Amino acid sequence: MPNISRSYKLQITKNTDHLKFITKTSLVYGGISIAFSVIGLILPDRQFFESPIINGINMPHVFGHIIWGLMIGAASLSFRYFLLGGVFAIIIDWDHLIQFFNVEGLVRMGHSIPFGAVSAIVLMMLFGRKNYLLGTIAFAAMLAHISFDTLSGGGNFPLFAPFYDQIITFPDSFWFIFQLVGITIVISAMILSKSIHKEKGTEIIT
Ligand SMILES: [Zn+2]
Repeated sequence: MPNISRSYKLQITKNTDHLKFITKTSLVYGGISIAFSVIGLILPDRQFFESPIINGINMPHVFGHIIWGLMIGAASLSFRYFLLGGVFAIIIDWDHLIQFFNVEGLVRMGHSIPFGAVSAIVLMMLFGRKNYLLGTIAFAAMLAHISFDTLSGGGNFPLFAPFYDQIITFPDSFWFIFQLVGITIVISAMILSKSIHKEKGTEIIT
């Protein structure tokens, strides 16, 4: 059955493509999050970090972040960006890695609107200037991440760092706003890129 094996091969190529794209973009995303935490080392309001090992890695928390990211990714109606939402929403926590180095800095630098904006711009510059979905998922994954942190009682972030480095505290119920904004902008980007692709007669990568 040559047809079946051909479509099977195509599917494998497509999946390998997704995997490569997700790996490359996620490494860049995590790298920017680390770069942001390094900027925190020179901000005036830095303080001594407590080691992240004290709290340990909380698995339900990790899965919560992934699920929240998948939720905003699902709004893209694309398998690739659905997965990317889940991966980005957990990888943003690489900004905690700096806490292992016994230094003074600002906690959670990646949990900020400037991080979301910079990562969207950098990813689009590297992986496709017209890839609005990618840029939007990068920004919305930050919102999904802080949404879940807020829901689980950790709603305090330097939301405008490095421009305004005070920690802003949100009530637990605010999680809904962050997630709603994230889903809304992904839906808008999905509609925008569908109409662009339709106009040009090109196929959108799903
Ligand atoms: Zn976090």
